[in-house]
Amino acid sequence: MFEQLGLIGCGLMGGSFALALKRAKLVERVVGYSKSPSTTEHAQQLGVIDAAAPSALLAVSGADLVLIAVPVAASEATFAAIRSGISAETLVMDVGSTKSDVIEAARRGLQAQFGSFVPAHPIAGKERSGVEHADAALYAGRQVVLTPVETTRLGHIQRAATLWSAIGAQVLTMTPQAHDSAFAAVSHLPHLLAFAFMSGIASQPDGQRFLELAGPGFRDFTRIAAGDPTMWRDVLLANREQVLLQAQSFRRALDALEAMMQAGDSSALEDAIAAASGMRSQWKMGSGSTLG
Ligand code: NAP
Repeated sequence: MFEQLGLIGCGLMGGSFALALKRAKLVERVVGYSKSPSTTEHAQQLGVIDAAAPSALLAVSGADLVLIAVPVAASEATFAAIRSGISAETLVMDVGSTKSDVIEAARRGLQAQFGSFVPAHPIAGKERSGVEHADAALYAGRQVVLTPVETTRLGHIQRAATLWSAIGAQVLTMTPQAHDSAFAAVSHLPHLLAFAFMSGIASQPDGQRFLELAGPGFRDFTRIAAGDPTMWRDVLLANREQVLLQAQSFRRALDALEAMMQAGDSSALEDAIAAASGMRSQWKMGSGSTLG
C-alpha cells in the first residue's frame, strides 16, 4: 500500500494507472500535475486524482510513489523538475514506449536519485489519448516490460513488479536495448507504415473516393494510424535507429514480393504468401492486445 502517488501526466496511461491503484486500494491519495491546468482539473473532476498540483515538483512532494506518464520527449525536463522532491525511498516509474532514451533522460534529470527509477512500458493502450479515456482495467491481463539497469535499486524493482502484478499485469524484465529493438519491429515500424499508408492514399486525386469504398480489412489494417501525433512523433524519433533498421528489413521483403509480381512468378508469390499467412495464423499474442 502506498500513501501518495505523484502523477505527472494525467492522460490516458497515467489516469488509468491511478484508477487501477485506487480500485485495488493500493494507494491512499493521488496528487496530479499535467502541462495544462485544464487537464489536471478535468482529471480531478473525473476522480482520477484527488488533488491538483501547480507544478511537477509539488505533485511529488510527500509521494512514496511517482509515475511519469508524459510524451517521451518531455521526460528529461520532468525528471529534472522533480529531482529535489525524490528520496532514495521513493519508487519512480514511467510508462514510455521507448526505454533507452528515457533511461538516459532519467540519468541526467534525476542524477543522484537515478537508482530510484524503474523504467516500465505497459503493453496496453488505446488510439484515443486523454484522461477522459482512462480506464481502471487498462492494464489487467496485459504485459508490462521493466528495463532496469545495473544501478536500479533491487528493492524498487521488486516493489514495481509486485505493484504491476497487483493491478493484473504480467511483468517481464529485459534490457532497454532488447526492448527497443523488439518494439521497433512489432510496434513502432507498424505505426510508421500505417501513417505512410494513409498518407499514400490521401495524396492521390481519387484517395477520398477509395477510402469511402474501404471495408473491414482496411479498417483492421489501418487502426493504429489513428494514434496520437505527439506521442508517435516522439516515439519514432526517440527510437529512430532501430525503427530505420526495421524499415530496411521491411523494404527488402516488399522488394522481393514486387519482384515476384513483376516476373509473374505465381508459385514464388504463393509460397511467400503461404509462409507469411502461416506465421500470422500461428502467432499468439502475449497478454497485450494492442501495440504499445
Ligand atoms: P496522453 O493521454 O496524451 O497523456 C499525456 C499527458 O501528459 C497529458 O495529460 C499531457 O498534458 C501531459 N504532458 C505533456 N507534456 C507534459 C509536460 N511537459 N509536463 C507534464 N505533463 C505533460 O498520452 P498517453 O497515451 O497517456 O501517453 C503517455 C505516455 O505513455 C507516452 O510516453 C507514451 O509513449 C506511453 N504509452 C502510450 C500508449 C498508448 O497506447 N497511448 C501505450 C504505451 C505507452 P496536457 O493534456 O496538458 O497536454
